[in-house]
Amino acid sequence: MGVALRVLDDGAWVSVNDERRVSVSELWRVAGAGDGRVCACDCADFVVEGFTDAGADGRTVTADVYGQCIRCGETASVAGLPVGRVVDGTFRPLAADAVRSPRGGSAGRATLAGSR
Ligand SMILES: [Zn+2]
Repeated sequence: MGVALRVLDDGAWVSVNDERRVSVSELWRVAGAGDGRVCACDCADFVVEGFTDAGADGRTVTADVYGQCIRCGETASVAGLPVGRVVDGTFRPLAADAVRSPRGGSAGRATLAGSR
């Protein structure tokens, strides 16, 4: 993909091509089904407290995160949540209200397919 992905500032930021693009303290909607299940909620309201790794799944940029669901209070680490994608070498963050699925699950793929 030719994109440099890094976690900076003790997990506070995901850097894409040396620019800080995704920060903690955001509220993400995370689908509850599957292996990467955050908590008992169908859709977690997940506050990101830190990033532990960043990676890519095709053109989708993903991050391993930890944080807390503010619906039920459960804390969790979630691997491979999509944070955006790379189009023509440019990072496009996911919409704030997008429902994210761990490991590039169904919601992430549908977003990608629909955008072609
Ligand atoms: Zn929850």
